[in-house]
Amino acid sequence: MSNTKSYIQEFTVKEDGIHIIATSGNAYLITRTSCSCKGFGFRKTCGHFQEATEKDLLSLIPVKTIQQIAHHKPSGKLVDERKKAIRKYLTLHSIPSSDDIVNALEKIVTQTMKPSEFLEIAKKEVSSLASK
Ligand SMILES: [Zn+2]
Repeated sequence: MSNTKSYIQEFTVKEDGIHIIATSGNAYLITRTSCSCKGFGFRKTCGHFQEATEKDLLSLIPVKTIQQIAHHKPSGKLVDERKKAIRKYLTLHSIPSSDDIVNALEKIVTQTMKPSEFLEIAKKEVSSLASK
């Protein structure tokens, strides 16, 4: 017998996460990173989420779902993709693509920028960094 208070009465694993019935009787959805209850909204953690983590319920969420979450999160993913593209472009034009240069260009580059303008700025950036 465990004395640990239980927060989850029953759960069902679905595509979008773990659907639980809490011991309070309310239904919530737990994902890899969140619980839909009010407490989680305030404290960024809750009994449901902690119990799900402890019982390793989160690992039951289909992998497909985790990728979908990552995709919808406004994370640094887009920035990374852009940096990769910048690095490739610089290499293609024989411009040294150090992290400093790629980071600086990532902040400057816009979708309406012409490739020639971009190269011009890249070259300036390289020489200004070299003179530091
Ligand atoms: Zn919760």
